[in-house]
Amino acid sequence: MASFSGIRTRQRYRELPETFYTPVRPTPLRGDIKLVHFNTDLAREMGLDTTSPEDWTEVGAGRALLAGMDPVAMKYTGHQFGMYNPDLGDGRGLLLWETEDPDGRIRDWHLKGAGQTPYSRFGDGRAVLRSTIREYLCSEAMHHLGIPTTRALFLVSSREPVRRETLETAAAMLRVADTHIRFGHFEYAAHSLGPEAVKTLADHTIRHHFRELTGLPENERYTSFFAEVTRRTARMVAQWQGVGFCHGVMNSDNMSIIGDTFDYGPYAFLDDFDAGYICNHTDQQGRYAYNRQPGIGFVNCQLLARSLISLIDEDDLRRALREYETTYNETFLELMRQKLGLEKGDENDLTLIMDTFSMLHEHRVDYTLFFRGLSRLPSRGATPVRDLFVDRKVADEWLARYGQRLQDESRSASERETAMCGINPKFILRNYLAQQVILEAGEGDYQPLTDLLNVLKRPFDEQPENEHYAAQPPDWGRHMNISCSS
Ligand code: AMP
Ligand code: MG
Ligand code: MG
Repeated sequence: MASFSGIRTRQRYRELPETFYTPVRPTPLRGDIKLVHFNTDLAREMGLDTTSPEDWTEVGAGRALLAGMDPVAMKYTGHQFGMYNPDLGDGRGLLLWETEDPDGRIRDWHLKGAGQTPYSRFGDGRAVLRSTIREYLCSEAMHHLGIPTTRALFLVSSREPVRRETLETAAAMLRVADTHIRFGHFEYAAHSLGPEAVKTLADHTIRHHFRELTGLPENERYTSFFAEVTRRTARMVAQWQGVGFCHGVMNSDNMSIIGDTFDYGPYAFLDDFDAGYICNHTDQQGRYAYNRQPGIGFVNCQLLARSLISLIDEDDLRRALREYETTYNETFLELMRQKLGLEKGDENDLTLIMDTFSMLHEHRVDYTLFFRGLSRLPSRGATPVRDLFVDRKVADEWLARYGQRLQDESRSASERETAMCGINPKFILRNYLAQQVILEAGEGDYQPLTDLLNVLKRPFDEQPENEHYAAQPPDWGRHMNISCSS
């Protein structure tokens, strides 16, 4: 059994009224259980004993609870594809407890795939190996890219059959976050409970997760809280755009109140650049297409604002909402400048950036390799960049314009190269890479998953021995349509 000497545990979410949750015990997974992966680095950060990861298998399988684990299913609601759904909540995940890192950081433990809850609706309460591997991989990839996200601590698989579009097998993953409170919690409080509950939830969230605001006078405190959520959301989405990440299901119940990338479903990183890319095959209207994410982030903040109307003056809400756009634009511009290696601001930079996106879109250039190639221009020359274009003339014209712009810069080429390599990843989680390790894990071989995770831990390093992980997808791996069923 996992050892917990010296780790402080709690369950602060239980301080909320019972209307916000239901205590539920995990439903044990049947059959032979295997530990697919254990995140030793994260476990160390959390101060956990890492000597025998296998000990976590029983907890992961929902067969054992450690003393102090007091699992609850959280209640929330939310807007799914623009439609309000009052029946949401943790339908297959349980908040087990919270633990304190040696440095005082407190984290939620959420066991995803732990069985049915009162909020399961028609669902079986399970998660499948394919989707948990996808979440595990991507949350770790995002973390190492420097994008706020939930984390993955361990993953177990079982032989228990689960029906999705085909017959799959059940798995469960332990997700860690500073909090699992979502925009949808506030929507639930506002729509189903009333102003008193909204205030209770806001106070709880601020007290535990926005501690720097607790000293402010009441009305300022709530406004500042909301403004901070909008800014964090805007920054998170700007970072998604910068790295070419498409979330796929930006429903308001999948929006973390602390601005973490949250709930990985049919997400995708762009391979060749397509501004309107839709990664979720059930999203026929393209509501959550890549280029619509910034706008949807704003829509979700509007939904949150509506839930806070009993707490915050309408004008203040409106003012705070405006910060979304300014924060997004500033963050995005700054990020793109860094990606292009431009240290000095120039008023024409935005035009250059937009023209660059148009060009990448029109010529379907691999997004990641393009920026990595630019980063390495000084030491590797233009060939790797030119080779990404079918029409080399387009590349040459753009490179000439870019070269002109670089004349205004004062950094040395090698300094610029180092800085750009620290912002333009060489390795992203391409869909086909995820697909390959899923197939291998399905055959019982978890080593390829571990190998891929190790590559994704150092996305900005050259890793010459892992060159093949940086390659463009083979034909079968392009534009894979990822199922939403998870
Ligand atoms: P998602 O699309 O992952 O954001 O999930 C939307 C809602 O469906 C949430 O309330 C989930 O808890 C619930 N849900 C998703 N899959 C299942 C499942 N297999 N069993 C029960 N509930 C589920
Ligand atoms: Mg969700
Ligand atoms: Mg989900």
